[in-house]
Amino acid sequence: VKRVVAFIAVGLFSCLFLFSMNPFSYPVETVFIDPGHGGQDSGAVRNWDFAPGGELMEKDVNLAISLILKDYLKQKAPSLDVVLTRSDDTFPSLQERSQLCYRTVLSPKTASLFLSIHANASTNQSAEGFEVFTKPKDKQVPIIDEKTPLLNIPLFASEDNKTLNVQQMEENLKFAGNIESSLAASFPSMEDRGIKEDDLYVLNACRTCAALVEVGFISNREDALHLLDPAWQHNMAQALGDAILKYVQR
Ligand SMILES: [Zn+2]
Repeated sequence: VKRVVAFIAVGLFSCLFLFSMNPFSYPVETVFIDPGHGGQDSGAVRNWDFAPGGELMEKDVNLAISLILKDYLKQKAPSLDVVLTRSDDTFPSLQERSQLCYRTVLSPKTASLFLSIHANASTNQSAEGFEVFTKPKDKQVPIIDEKTPLLNIPLFASEDNKTLNVQQMEENLKFAGNIESSLAASFPSMEDRGIKEDDLYVLNACRTCAALVEVGFISNREDALHLLDPAWQHNMAQALGDAILKYVQR
């Protein structure tokens, strides 16, 4: 009788565990890297005498770091599918960027990850450092709607939308935390401006674990010198790659 009771208890426990599984925490199959801006949209622009042509444009920094990051991830984790939302100086719309992510058909019980890469600017030239953004905690986005690929629906079907948003946020914060700690370790002299919330289109619309990183201020002389430096760009791409790998290999 004891054995039967134990068997039933284990069975019930497993069922509860299965039903409370967070679909955003499944093993990551695809990583989307989104180099912010591009083409006619330069992002933030500042004039610096040390920049080629005298002008530093955010879109170029975002792309340079993203291209190195893709290579780094392919080298460190060849089985990971790494997709760039742009790989040259073009401007996919924010809708196109997020659609790439949520229209991708996932293998059963897998998840994807989205990281948007930007550089900051401020009218205050002394503002410096890196910061990480997630969508707001209380923001409710539709995880499933008419645009969701049919094959992805079973992944999210066991929970109501409110629970899914809570589960997504748990993963967003884990991922953002990995980015913050990796950058803090790799760039101890940079200011760590922390993890913040912002109501940003790409973070709301991609329906997966997502974060946006501002890697430094193009409006600050010290940061701008770094942002232009290929060796620094490499270090930044590696620090972001290590944060992604820590999340993926959890
Ligand atoms: Zn930007």
